[in-house]
Amino acid sequence: MSRTYKAVQATKPGKLEVVEKPIIEPAFGQVRIRVEACGVCHTDALTVEGGFPGLTFPRVPGHEVIGKIEAVGPGVQGWKVGQRAGVGYMGGHCGHCENCRRGDFVNCQNQPISGVHSDGGYAEMMIAQASGLAAIPDDLLSTEAAPLLCAGLTTFNGLRNSKARPGELVAIQGVGGLGHLGIQFARRMGFQVAAIARGPEKASLARKLGAHNAQDPVAILQAFGGARLILATAANSKSMSPLLGGLAPRGQLIVAGAGGSEPISVDPVLLLFGTRSITGTMTGSSIDAEDTLSFSSLQSIRPIIETVPLANAAEAYGRMMRNEARFRIVLVTGQ
Ligand SMILES: [Zn+2]
Ligand SMILES: [Zn+2]
Repeated sequence: MSRTYKAVQATKPGKLEVVEKPIIEPAFGQVRIRVEACGVCHTDALTVEGGFPGLTFPRVPGHEVIGKIEAVGPGVQGWKVGQRAGVGYMGGHCGHCENCRRGDFVNCQNQPISGVHSDGGYAEMMIAQASGLAAIPDDLLSTEAAPLLCAGLTTFNGLRNSKARPGELVAIQGVGGLGHLGIQFARRMGFQVAAIARGPEKASLARKLGAHNAQDPVAILQAFGGARLILATAANSKSMSPLLGGLAPRGQLIVAGAGGSEPISVDPVLLLFGTRSITGTMTGSSIDAEDTLSFSSLQSIRPIIETVPLANAAEAYGRMMRNEARFRIVLVTGQ
């Protein structure tokens, strides 16, 4: 067996290159995964462009990773060699910080972030924390499961943890990597679904995915009495600012995407009269990821993907950043 593996790492801001790295053994609490598929997510830019505070180069990006466990480190329980597993953005929780002790694993203070604090899935191999692993239902292909671990989990958790109830109006802003999954989840959860999309092509796709309405945002939402929830997935703060006007009283704007640190501007009158609120959602823990996968399996929800060989990761990343991915590019190994 080869003692090296192929990886695509960021070596300086904006530069991805293919390298051979030595295979290492998993340490305590870790497993080694032979990667089969890894989604290309907008958040990878925090690694590739070096935007994550304290990030050091070189670093392998990638946090929508599916593969087979091929080595299990000491102290790992519940996972075995040969099992298919996935790892998302939250690479695992420590179990002993204050937030973990309160059961709030997403806010673990010692959370390794995949592709930021340790090498991620733009590679043939990845070392992962066992506490960050999700089991994969047999009927999901690895390429289909990969985007569900971040794009899927983010929208699934945002919807199910909101105050919206079945039958109420929910709007998904953005029909891209996150939004095209959010529409499907919202429809299958029993909401009335509006998609806020740009252009007729996206509107027709949104309808195919299950959205009931797909046009002029605020006016239409208000014609229906306002949305109970708007899940904003576009990586663009400016596009989120006007949405508050489309919320029903006590409605929530849940922010699931960010394109930088540009602020969202808010009319305080809309917050006061109608007690509307703005909050965020942050992917989820490994068991939330399993829930997302199980729900997708049960309800026949799949991402729309195109697969690209790992060696072409730099080109795939560039297309994603230019908003040309329809709707998720997934890197595949073994080609
Ligand atoms: Zn913790
Ligand atoms: Zn992501």
